[in-house]
Amino acid sequence: MHLYLSPHADDAALSCGAQIAMFTRRHDSVLIWTLMGGFPDPATRDFPLARHFREVWNIENDVTALRRREDVAATATLGAGFRHGDWVEAIYRGDADGQPLYTELPAINGDIHPDDPLLKLVDDDAAVDALFAPFGLDEHDTIHVPLGVGAHVDHLLVRRMALRLGNRHPHLRMVFYEEYPYVVYNPRNVAFAVSTFGAVLRPAPTPQVDENAITQKIRAIACYSSQLKMIWPTGLPGMAVRTWQYMQKLGEVDWELV
Ligand SMILES: [Zn+2]
Repeated sequence: MHLYLSPHADDAALSCGAQIAMFTRRHDSVLIWTLMGGFPDPATRDFPLARHFREVWNIENDVTALRRREDVAATATLGAGFRHGDWVEAIYRGDADGQPLYTELPAINGDIHPDDPLLKLVDDDAAVDALFAPFGLDEHDTIHVPLGVGAHVDHLLVRRMALRLGNRHPHLRMVFYEEYPYVVYNPRNVAFAVSTFGAVLRPAPTPQVDENAITQKIRAIACYSSQLKMIWPTGLPGMAVRTWQYMQKLGEVDWELV
């Protein structure tokens, strides 16, 4: 099985959609696990960044329900299964006093806040083992982990959790995927992610993708309609053109530990 750790609804499709399409075409089992798929507490829905993104995404009410529906449609387009985790996104996370931890945009692409409640969880061996136990993973499976390009704190937390799992279960195969569109925002983002990873990485083999798989990826990304205009000002047409160009020039790149 290929288990894709997707911090948010859309990360796996954006970053790995074409390779997932290739895997499912040859009947490999693929499961996309959207970890930050949890419903926020009502008290946190008006945290500053939660309000900001609700306006950017132009969603009036239940953001999480909508993003889950988009995710279900996208994973079906790729022929993959899905699982929605119950962690909430950084924009909804608060400290012990209920104050938001991440209040300004730059804060969510940087260091994990020391009071982040997820930090304790991802640093806890028993908690991490329990999270992965339902999948019954063995050495024939591959876990696909966000590399941390763009340094979104949610991506860094998921990577940190995966590395803890990998340290204790070295037989598990793990690859680290470059995150699109962060990878095209600034070419130095990848070098930064690799150089600050904390271990030596080398490029990992990825499946050769064909034009049908790229088309399938674009159709999957199109399911995330609430997100398109935030990333591409013209929305759907911009996404299709830019994603095609990205796949021709750079393409999906994985890394692995040396
Ligand atoms: Zn993300």
